Amino acid sequence: MDIRELTAAGTGRLIREKKISVQEAVEASLEQIARVEHKVHGFITVDAEGARKKACQIQERICAGEFAGPLAGVPVAVKDNICTRGVRTTCASRILENYVPAYTADAVERLERAGAVVIGKTNMDEFAMGSTTETSYCGVTRNPWNLDHVPGGSSGGSCAAVAAEECALALGSDTGGSIRQPSSFCGVVGIKPTYGTVSRYGLIAYGSSLDQIGPIGRSVEDCALLLDVIAGQDRKDSTSVPRKKYDFAGALRMDVKGLRIGIPREYFEEGLDPEVKDKIQKALRILEEQGAATEVFDLKLVKYAIPAYYVIASAEACSNLARFDGVKYGYRAEEYEGLHEMYKKTRSEGFGSEVKRRILLGSFVLSSGYYDAYYLKALKTKALIRQEFDRAFGRFDLIVAPAAPSTAPMLGSSLSDPLQMYLSDIYTVAVNLAGLPGISIPVGTDRKGLPVGMQLIGNCFEEDKMIRAAYTYEQIHGYERPELVKEGGSYGETV
Ligand code: GLN
Repeated sequence: MDIRELTAAGTGRLIREKKISVQEAVEASLEQIARVEHKVHGFITVDAEGARKKACQIQERICAGEFAGPLAGVPVAVKDNICTRGVRTTCASRILENYVPAYTADAVERLERAGAVVIGKTNMDEFAMGSTTETSYCGVTRNPWNLDHVPGGSSGGSCAAVAAEECALALGSDTGGSIRQPSSFCGVVGIKPTYGTVSRYGLIAYGSSLDQIGPIGRSVEDCALLLDVIAGQDRKDSTSVPRKKYDFAGALRMDVKGLRIGIPREYFEEGLDPEVKDKIQKALRILEEQGAATEVFDLKLVKYAIPAYYVIASAEACSNLARFDGVKYGYRAEEYEGLHEMYKKTRSEGFGSEVKRRILLGSFVLSSGYYDAYYLKALKTKALIRQEFDRAFGRFDLIVAPAAPSTAPMLGSSLSDPLQMYLSDIYTVAVNLAGLPGISIPVGTDRKGLPVGMQLIGNCFEEDKMIRAAYTYEQIHGYERPELVKEGGSYGETV
């Protein structure tokens, strides 16, 4: 048996049955990191020492009868915009290159309380702004299915690490698609929960009204188990909501009988790669055979989602990023004359160009004279989009969508055209604007052997239906591993 290939649920079970130790699970993860990381580069920081120490402590406590939950002893990676006390948290930015938080995010605290072991911090687009993980200050992450392609973004490091079997589970964050899109590019499962389900305390803010932390894994079950652990109201985040009960794992049933799935006409028209469309249609046939009913309908306002999203996300980003001024956190320019020059130089040198573009755009749409024309209009558009989804969920239990217009592009092919990159978020951003939950699951590969993802969108607080449909499909379709991981040796020499 190779521990690396196991799901998190499988690893947790063997640990509980005392067939393997927590130390063995952690070592298996660290070995795979040593084997593939020089090619994949999913991590910014690997906390081998911390993870080994934790493994011993947790093993002792498991033996003492504590930590009886399904994820006890399981290694988990955490995106590098989620604060971990004592472990560097960089947001893949020069400005936070050496920032070591004094506190831990609520989601990570919950992970630790469940006995999971944080193995390291994963690469991402700088401040989660981007769709390819190429805007990272720490270098690019490569797609484990084909190292010449991007893993998607911004949670590209988390998704690549899970696909390359460096860990079975990871946390990502999703402001406009950053969990679902890289999950689809890397052939793994990713869930963006309903806004307010997971506390944002300790998540370094990008667009506060859109950001949500969520699970990434190689199976629907693993994601449901992780979501059960991290979800919950937190008084440190006033936007986290009380929900009746968390039992996402309880939705893991092979049962879609009578489930009504809406297919928005606008999401399957021109602009969508025919191979992606074909794979999603095939996946829908499988759900239909299991008893789900599908129907095409109009979701007209989604064509305004991209402009509304980029106005709102940039406005919030420019306000959130004002705190990085060389005084309170991280990097400060070395030479300057006076306070203003210090701010200017620190921010000029500390932020990368994509982040600067968003700050400029955000300052512009919020400036007096333009506020009504852009920001206010975007907020109204957001409300209308939400209403349109409300109407749709009167008729449907789930809405299906691609996660991206194509499979993973080649490295270096996207950065030169930012507008094109923004447009590629077409299928994911409306979900964040409306606060809805969404899941991306792998539904096969294209001619080039790159994974295709299918997105299922649920009504607010109805993750259970999404999980049910995803689980049903997965039971029939199974999980495909990247050739490179299977072959092992193709990653080259161990470093
Ligand atoms: N690609 C989108 C952006 O750059 C979404 C990013 C995200 O979800 N964090 O804003």
